[in-house]
Amino acid sequence: MKKVPVIDLSQCTDCDSCLEICPEVFRRNKGTGLIEVADLALYPEDEVSEAICICPNDCIAWENE
Ligand code: SF4
Repeated sequence: MKKVPVIDLSQCTDCDSCLEICPEVFRRNKGTGLIEVADLALYPEDEVSEAICICPNDCIAWENE
């Protein structure tokens, strides 16, 4: 089973903290302007966990794929 970070965009306030901490995973979609998760084979657990901790709105979570 693969662990994938997901973002609840309804709670996201565009603070950009996740982009600063983990830019290889979190990025802003140039078309929609919304934060999105890059499609990676494997996600760096420590960096994603740090982004989860620092997100002020608790909108990032792990999901099993
Ligand atoms: S840290 Fe959370 S609130 Fe801030 S941009 Fe990322 S997902 Fe949105």
